[in-house]
Amino acid sequence: MKVHEYQARELMQQAGIPVPPCEVVDSGDQVATAWERIGAETVVVKAQVHAGGRGKAGYVKLVNSPTEAQEHAARMLREPMVSKQTGPDGIQVRKVLLAAAVDIAKEYYLGVVLDRARRVPVMMASAEGGVEIEEVAEKNPDAIKKAWFHPHLGLQRFQAVQLAGEIGLRGDQAKTATKMMLQLARLFNQKDCTLAEINPLVETKDGQLLAIDAKFNFDDNALFRHPDVEGMFDPSEENPAELRAKEFNLSYIALDGNIGCLVNGAGLAMSTMDIIKLHGGEPANFLDVGGSVTAEGAVEAFRIILADARVKAVLVNIFGGIAKCDVIADALIKAAKEVGFKVPVVVRLEGTNVDKAREMLKEANIDGMHTANDLTDAAKKVCAFV
Ligand code: GDP
Ligand code: MN
Repeated sequence: MKVHEYQARELMQQAGIPVPPCEVVDSGDQVATAWERIGAETVVVKAQVHAGGRGKAGYVKLVNSPTEAQEHAARMLREPMVSKQTGPDGIQVRKVLLAAAVDIAKEYYLGVVLDRARRVPVMMASAEGGVEIEEVAEKNPDAIKKAWFHPHLGLQRFQAVQLAGEIGLRGDQAKTATKMMLQLARLFNQKDCTLAEINPLVETKDGQLLAIDAKFNFDDNALFRHPDVEGMFDPSEENPAELRAKEFNLSYIALDGNIGCLVNGAGLAMSTMDIIKLHGGEPANFLDVGGSVTAEGAVEAFRIILADARVKAVLVNIFGGIAKCDVIADALIKAAKEVGFKVPVVVRLEGTNVDKAREMLKEANIDGMHTANDLTDAAKKVCAFV
């Protein structure tokens, strides 16, 4: 799960990491009051969306008057933001952050992620923070210093001291940065983050270190342990189809291809996607209806897949274990009636109650439905339709 920058700032504040004073608004009318409360001469107006690259997109603006702040806030709330990290249509901004602006002398980067290859978290620090960090990572990876740490013991002080030195910080600044790294690493562990990043961490002209932007992602499977973080969930930032799927306990991830997949079991779903690709097709989604799927859940799965205009054919691949083939057949018949198969649907069923299921499908004689003998046959057939 992702959170907004203003929520990340709250978490940083709780963890003791210094951030400039700020306010959140959801309409231009609230800007004047927010301005008063911040009480700074220069304010930075920032769109609150889950995508990055806001600075380059014109959605981070320094302003010197409440009128100017209101104009930018209103524009951001009106015009969808298009950045490197959004699609070409951009995304709608629903909240805007106003923060006391700081005089920046230098921008640093601090971030904790899970290093999947080494299977431990890694603290990263760089003296080349700011909006070009992706490019630094790509072209000059040595400028990003790293310290891997034990997931239970956490980042050790000596490691943070070393990193602070490696990114060129000395004296009191090195001490402050060391403390911030320890706080950030602790926050990462305590809140079950998958990413905890401050970019930029700025050195102000008078020598202070402050976090002025942060991005935190959390492990969905650990959210039950963090009601405060769970409460930060913003459904308006999520893919609507994925949200609907969640309501029905379906795990659905939208992809870019045109072959819709309805499968039971994550492993089978992945091999289904593989075999589609092997035969030259591109899956439109990952969809695992799960072991205990009901006919209602499966009908909903069809509704979600068929609502995607890019879907030109569907592959249903069910291995009936706990999920029974007749339940799926029932769902297919219901879905054909309720949703209608506007595109060809190739069905491969195997396992528990398969004979009964085949009978049911034969009897129903659904328009646009094609049966397959095995997985390869199914993949070939569905790829031929697109
Ligand atoms: P992002 O582009 O979505 O990562 O948004 P950031 O919050 O990181 O802002 C992008 C850039 O805007 C930063 O790297 C800074 O250079 C600049 N910026 C943001 N806040 C301030 C501020 O308070 N003062 C100044 N001078 N620049 C700022
Ligand atoms: Mn940033």
